[in-house]
Amino acid sequence: MKKAIILAIGNELVEGIIVDTNSKYIANKLLDFGYKTLMTKTLPDNLNLIVDEFKDSLKKADLVITTGGLGPTEDDLTREAISLALEKKLIYDSALGEKIIKKAKEYYKKVPEIVKKQAYVIEGAQVIENPVGTAPGQVIKIKDKTVIILPGPPAELYPIFESALEKLEKDEPLYTRRIKTIGIPEAVLVDEYKNIIYSNKDITVATMASYKTGVELRFTGKISLKDEIDTIVNKLIEKISDFVYSLDDKDIEEVIFEKLNSLGKTVSFAESCTGGLSSSRFVDVPGVSKVFKGSVVAYSNEIKERVLNVKKETLNNFGAVSEECVIEMAKGVANLFSTDYSVSISGIAGPTGGTKEKPVGTVWICAYDRNSDKYITEKHIFKGNRETIRFKSSLYAFNLLRRIII
Ligand code: AMP
Ligand code: MG
Repeated sequence: MKKAIILAIGNELVEGIIVDTNSKYIANKLLDFGYKTLMTKTLPDNLNLIVDEFKDSLKKADLVITTGGLGPTEDDLTREAISLALEKKLIYDSALGEKIIKKAKEYYKKVPEIVKKQAYVIEGAQVIENPVGTAPGQVIKIKDKTVIILPGPPAELYPIFESALEKLEKDEPLYTRRIKTIGIPEAVLVDEYKNIIYSNKDITVATMASYKTGVELRFTGKISLKDEIDTIVNKLIEKISDFVYSLDDKDIEEVIFEKLNSLGKTVSFAESCTGGLSSSRFVDVPGVSKVFKGSVVAYSNEIKERVLNVKKETLNNFGAVSEECVIEMAKGVANLFSTDYSVSISGIAGPTGGTKEKPVGTVWICAYDRNSDKYITEKHIFKGNRETIRFKSSLYAFNLLRRIII
């Protein structure tokens, strides 16, 4: 398996102003070409640092890709740094210079002299033209190694990188499978099933845990290991099928939408502590109006009672954060909106409002099937701050909905 290192360059990355999405994109694409990304690093626009890190990366990897720092301004230093590191001259390419000036005329009334800086090419490099902006990409071969230099703006990087990939020596492609779960903590999952998960050392395992999307396991290996990878995934699914919601890139909201849509069924939400978050997440999915009728944000007890028909005695005897209350909320909203399914959420998102019996993070959820008058409830005590508790509540509510639908 060939190895790649990605260096994302720019002060704005290191200072936390923007997130490095280029590396994610590149690393994903490289898999199809049989390259495993050893590491990704973000670096500031600092000449010496780029020179050092670049030299170091070239020792460790077959392919080094840089993004960013190709602009015309003083602070963009990637070209200079790589020319220094490789001990290759930067040569002005006058034909390229002409093209860049012509392109720049689309953006500027009077083209600044400095854009010409982008026409400097590292000795021996192949230039890959930029169909979107002005800074071209460059591909340099050094013995059996390859260097690809790409501009930072994603819209410019994508097409240039596609062209650069064609010039890349392919290794055996890689095969990836993923399992996305909700409801089983990452550490528990990995520990309990380590004999399955880590049964083949040639298969790389990546685990990711997110309070927005759950826990994901990803298995990657050479295409020749396809059967082995499939076997691992199938064995694991057999053990944890209740928690698995997706075997591809889809998020839980999309999974729910597709299930409801294929069944021609509708859903509504009654949200207390999530304050509309679940509805908001759900309407991120295009086409969701086919299945989603609406929701009630019943934040106060008064609205739970008046709009959702939760009984006064229920609130008095058990409180708003109780199994009894979420059942009545789910039934109330499904009846109000005449939907096939509904979900309700009531909890204590904190930081205040917790008690000994109901600490911060206590959340009750209910998924209701109105046609058969059946429901499932769950109580959770989520750890975290107000934001994570609210996101986890909506995540688990979606999963409960998924379970009642199937
Ligand atoms: P450049 O002029 O080539 O340094 O790129 C500048 C712009 O590209 C930045 O202001 C960002 O908006 C964007 N950019 C640079 N690096 C990245 C990255 N790694 N991921 C996403 N966007 C980036
Ligand atoms: Mg920059």
